[in-house]
Parts: sequence; structure tokens; C-alpha cells
Amino acid sequence: MPKSQAEALRNRRADLKRQLRSVDAELEAIERSCDHDWGAVVFDPVIHRGYRVEAVEAGSDSTPAYDVPGRQESRWRRRCRKCGRVEETKQTEEEVVKKPRW
Ligand SMILES: [Zn+2]
Repeated sequence: MPKSQAEALRNRRADLKRQLRSVDAELEAIERSCDHDWGAVVFDPVIHRGYRVEAVEAGSDSTPAYDVPGRQESRWRRRCRKCGRVEETKQTEEEVVKKPRW
């Protein structure tokens, strides 16, 4: 009985993987053909909480306790108004602003 049950689950898993590939391909085609109309860019930083690393007592290899400070990692998100695709990035680029010099 467990063998046939396992076999049924394997078959179902294979079928679901095929369905997933099909849905992924269909969705990718829709998103690729969309001339995206991006909505507002939302700043959504990732917060990394600080923590303390306790001291390790191991004879001559002892390490004192120390604190790892928390930090904020910049992240931005945008959503297409037409197809709903959501993109997020943590990358930035420099912007050169030209202004008249008198
Ligand atoms: Zn789109």
C-alpha cells in the first residue's frame, strides 16, 4: 500500500511540475509582451537586526563576545499597472545632474 501511495504521489508531483512549467511559460510570455507601465516606486528597506556573538572559551583560541550592529539594506519595489508584474531591486546607479553655471 505505501508503495502505490508513493507512486501516486510521484506521478502527481511530475504532473504538477509539468503544469508549473506551462504556467511559468504562459506568464513569462504575457510579461514579455507587456509594455510595462510602472507605478510609483516604493522604498521598502530590509531591516537586519543586530545581535550579540557570545564569547568562545577554547584555551588559546578564545574569542571575546562582540556585538554585530543592526543595519538597513536599501530595497525598492515597483508594480506594472497593466500586467501586475512586481520588480524589486537593491541596486543603485549614480545620476549626474547638469545645471547651468553662471
Ligand atoms: Zn506590465
